[in-house]
Amino acid sequence: MPRLPEDLPELLERVRAETAGSVGTGKVADYIPALASVPADRFGLAVATVDGQLHGVGDWRERFSIQSISKVFGLALTLGLDGDRLWQRVGREPSGDPFNSLVQLELEHGIPRNPFINAGALVVTDRLLSVTGDPVGAVLALLRGEVGDDGFGVDPLVAESEAAHGDLNAALGYFMSAHGNMDNPIRIVLDHYFRQCAIAMSCGELAQAALFLARHGTLRDERRLLSEVQAKRINAIMLTCGAYDAAGEFAYRVGLPGKSGVGGGILAVVPRLCTVCVWSPGLDDQGNSIAGVAALERFAQLTGSSVF
Ligand code: GLU
Repeated sequence: MPRLPEDLPELLERVRAETAGSVGTGKVADYIPALASVPADRFGLAVATVDGQLHGVGDWRERFSIQSISKVFGLALTLGLDGDRLWQRVGREPSGDPFNSLVQLELEHGIPRNPFINAGALVVTDRLLSVTGDPVGAVLALLRGEVGDDGFGVDPLVAESEAAHGDLNAALGYFMSAHGNMDNPIRIVLDHYFRQCAIAMSCGELAQAALFLARHGTLRDERRLLSEVQAKRINAIMLTCGAYDAAGEFAYRVGLPGKSGVGGGILAVVPRLCTVCVWSPGLDDQGNSIAGVAALERFAQLTGSSVF
């Protein structure tokens, strides 16, 4: 079992110093125009521990667009509220394809490979709409409850920008509908999906919000959202499918369950110990933050916290 050092702030400073060279490299996502203006030189890193510590360095209190990191919370809620029914409609295998690819979906008859590619997340949102009537509201309530703060929410400009440039996601939704894999009107599912992706949070807030995954399903108030097995399985899917078509490389370098977003954030879980969230907007060709992966790799090395 890995142990975090006594002086966690010093460790985070060291990770930051040793990965500073990669901050600002890569390309800020611009296919959602509202994201293109985010300064590439930002870097934040935060750790929240299961015993209640929260530490961060750099821009760890600055809010950014969480994008696909939201998919973890949508999945957790759906499994927690609705059990395993979802798995009849979405797989659990890495896609090896870009996160918004239509090709695989066509070959596999409208069943997305996993819940962390866009098609899979649309199925999750559709199910959450049937179960709660308000997926983005349910995701926000979970996030706010776990952080203990309702000062963050959906960035309306990013949500609008996503909707205005969301034809590919719409195509995925309508394609799955044609295969009988959507229960609700696609435009409503898309609206919730875009707003969920457009939630803005800081590294510190995201690390706190995800601690239930390090605690094997137990929420901040000690209620259980997920069974231990469900939490373990979400961590497994994060490890195998959380970094787009570079999930293998992420497991190789970092060795932790993680989920990245095109806003430049990556959330990682060290089961039973802590969560780590890093943000730096410069992305590699697969859509993962270059400085973010470098920082998590160094964090895992220095703490011996890889699950392998
Ligand atoms: N809202 C983005 C999209 O649907 C999410 C992409 C991501 O972060 O992976 O394209």
